[in-house]
Amino acid sequence: MVVMTPEATPAEIEAVVGRLEAAGVHAKVMPGELTTAIGAIGDPEGVREMGLEGLPGVDQVIPISRPYKLASSELSHHSATIVEVDGRRVGGGETFCLIAGPCTVESAEQTRAVARAVADAGASMLRGGAFKPRTSPFSFQGLGHEALDILAEVRAETGLPVVSELTAAEHADRFADTVDVIQVGARNMQNYGLLEVVGKLGKPVLLKRGLSSTLEELLQAADYILKEGNGDVILCERGIRTFDTAMRFTLDLGAVPWLKLHTHLPVIVDPSHASGDRRLVGPLSRAAAAVGADGIIVEVADDPEAALCDGPQQLYARDFPEFAGEIAAHAGLVGRTLA
Ligand code: PEP
Ligand code: MN
Repeated sequence: MVVMTPEATPAEIEAVVGRLEAAGVHAKVMPGELTTAIGAIGDPEGVREMGLEGLPGVDQVIPISRPYKLASSELSHHSATIVEVDGRRVGGGETFCLIAGPCTVESAEQTRAVARAVADAGASMLRGGAFKPRTSPFSFQGLGHEALDILAEVRAETGLPVVSELTAAEHADRFADTVDVIQVGARNMQNYGLLEVVGKLGKPVLLKRGLSSTLEELLQAADYILKEGNGDVILCERGIRTFDTAMRFTLDLGAVPWLKLHTHLPVIVDPSHASGDRRLVGPLSRAAAAVGADGIIVEVADDPEAALCDGPQQLYARDFPEFAGEIAAHAGLVGRTLA
């Protein structure tokens, strides 16, 4: 929508119409009491790049269509996307996926113990960091390739598909061979080169919202993966930075129903990183189910006090069966069963 200034002359209005039509864009002139607006109906990206703001008599150019395309529920020709991971369905409204596991793979024994506990209690997938995006370069960075070997071993023993975060393109092929769902962490949501690499791997992707990213930016980041031909993208709300420092981040629960309106992609919630406090993980997980999330990803440890990363937010493995039972019950209230 091109809004003219109140002083714009008929010749200036004509000039804008001429520019639009010359570019193959249909122009609809809408005279108002004070100003005239011109509806530009055509490729929004093309119109955005025409530099109409600089023409005499033009006040502003207001985009009406949304900046994300492939992730948009408007432009999609299909209904809700269901990402299928080894028979587990994420999305579609009938299932609730429970992804659980340690923050970081620290040893085969630790990973195996947690994996067994969460598998027995009905988790759909196992999470576990191999390469950790730590704030300080002096903090534990993860076991790297050794962790991927451990995840593969535990996957074979338990049958749980594994989710792990890829932090650099150089490890992409190894991840494609080893993990079932490739996580792009909050800190890399806008690493566009990495998103394109991940889009080409042909594996389901778990894309986490950036710490200070808007939902429109999240959907445009998803477009980077989708445009490479990979439609299996799961979005994850994991808390954002706000003025409040009481919790680690502020879980934006409104993001879930908003995303459900605006995208066809499945949406899950990470209450562990959002709150930073295991005591809040239960209530926030139940809330995620209530607002329509397709699942949650939670951190669980056999011995959180000894964990090398994120101890305070990891659920005790011994408490996990009760937690999972409550989640199944709450998912049931909104017509979903554990995937
Ligand atoms: C994680 O899930 O291990 C993680 C680091 O999360 P985030 O990218 O959301 O901080
Ligand atoms: Mn963590």
